[in-house]
Amino acid sequence: NVLTAREIRKSFIDFFLERGHTFVPSSPIVPHGDETLLFTNAGMNQFKDIFVGLTAPQWPRAANSQKCLRVSGKHNDLEEVGKDTYHHTFFEMLGNWSFGDYFKAEAIAWAWELLTKVWQINPDQLWASVFAGDEKDGLPKDEEAARLWTKVTPIPPERVLGFGKKDNFWEMGDTGPCGPCSEIHIDLGPDACNMKGVPGHTCGVNGDCARFIELWNLVFIQYNRQPSGNLVPLAAHGVDTGAGLERIVAVLQNKRSNYDTDLFMPIIERTSELCGHTYTARLGNKTDNAFRVIADHIRTLVFAITDGATPSNDGRGYVIRRILRRASRFGRELDLHEPFLHKLVPVVVDMLGEAFPEIAERAQHVTTVVEAEEASFGRTLDRGLDIFRGAADRAATTPDKTIPGDDAFQLYDTYGFPLDLTQLMAQERGLAVDTGRFAQLMDEQRQRARAAKKSDALLANLTDSELPTTDDQPKYEVDRCESTLLGWI
Ligand code: ATP
Ligand code: MG
Ligand code: MG
Ligand code: MG
Repeated sequence: NVLTAREIRKSFIDFFLERGHTFVPSSPIVPHGDETLLFTNAGMNQFKDIFVGLTAPQWPRAANSQKCLRVSGKHNDLEEVGKDTYHHTFFEMLGNWSFGDYFKAEAIAWAWELLTKVWQINPDQLWASVFAGDEKDGLPKDEEAARLWTKVTPIPPERVLGFGKKDNFWEMGDTGPCGPCSEIHIDLGPDACNMKGVPGHTCGVNGDCARFIELWNLVFIQYNRQPSGNLVPLAAHGVDTGAGLERIVAVLQNKRSNYDTDLFMPIIERTSELCGHTYTARLGNKTDNAFRVIADHIRTLVFAITDGATPSNDGRGYVIRRILRRASRFGRELDLHEPFLHKLVPVVVDMLGEAFPEIAERAQHVTTVVEAEEASFGRTLDRGLDIFRGAADRAATTPDKTIPGDDAFQLYDTYGFPLDLTQLMAQERGLAVDTGRFAQLMDEQRQRARAAKKSDALLANLTDSELPTTDDQPKYEVDRCESTLLGWI
């Protein structure tokens, strides 16, 4: 009797409702009124003011399934999508929270109970982790959590491992509530390792193969990270947990890949109908990869556009534009040469419109936006791909195997290719892109635009402070350039 994704989401929420939690609906994926964050990246985002004491909680305990996007800033999983089977740009994070109410013991005991009793995951496959401390931040090891794991669950001590800040200290961004965490990982067995025979590889928790997968993060909120970088202890302790729905569903439906579950297969099947190719679920296979990337990206587009993001040239809008153009170009791998992404919108709405009614309400708007954007990029895409091929062929014959920044800039400026798309295609051919030169050309273009604007303004007799600044100084320009040029190389 295999549970559907819908039933699994519901059983999580019901479990915590039975334990005194209030269902608090997911916040929008585009955080309104939070300039520190491009997109919601975890369940706790909407509660951060409660944790730092700025707002009083209306409930001592809460639970939900939060819409999350990890395509920018501190948490960016775009590069993993399609290459592995368990990192998505859009995913649902199941969560339960305590606002100054219960703490580590209950959080650990309930997570274990839900996984092993309700969902009946074999306890012998589960591993736990605790924070091992960090000298630089002056943070001690989480001895309390280490003790509790063996006290409130039957897990043997050798399956409770200590890790440092990277894995076991959770922060949503550069500032905000944070704390040490304990995680639960599942061992899917030696067959699940996708790095067999790679020299020096050993399978393990927080390792680099697909044998051990992180399922659930229990964060013990104890500090607030100040803009200065200092950690200030919070008066009231809290619990903030996050479990990836798509990963839990894969485990409970006995699938090797999140894409094989009922959260993705309907999208893949519809794509297959549209293009005539068959999905064969192989990792590292170009066609299969295209199916996975498209299935991932259309979910992101539906949720982000529903919540108010629109494709544009800066900030949030540029992230969305990049995702759409990337998906569109992967469509070419499946011989889809006409706009097709908008035809997948109803499939996403069918699957998730019950849990998130807003996507059903906005379906027509999303379809229109996606189709218009696809059509406009489609007009230059094939020509751009030709230009790219020429540049890549030339670069392949040079010793440094690098596509010149001038070519990347032409693709960006004339054909609408985001830099990371050019980089991705270069990478597929074992080539690099000269991003230094690209950045220089971008800068020159920006300065030209600024100068042009200034002379226009002078003509109109405006003073400098009266000049509109939004266009030449997009609010999220830093994020866009840094994540494109630094984070994604
Ligand atoms: P990983 O180490 O696998 O990248 P993480 O440590 O970055 O995960 P957390 O920030 O702890 O993840 O988020 C809580 C949970 O959300 C994870 O335990 C996982 O189940 C899920 N999750 C995180 N990132 C993704 C993603 N990109 N796609 C799907 N699920 C995710
Ligand atoms: Mg991660
Ligand atoms: Mg992790
Ligand atoms: Mg984690």
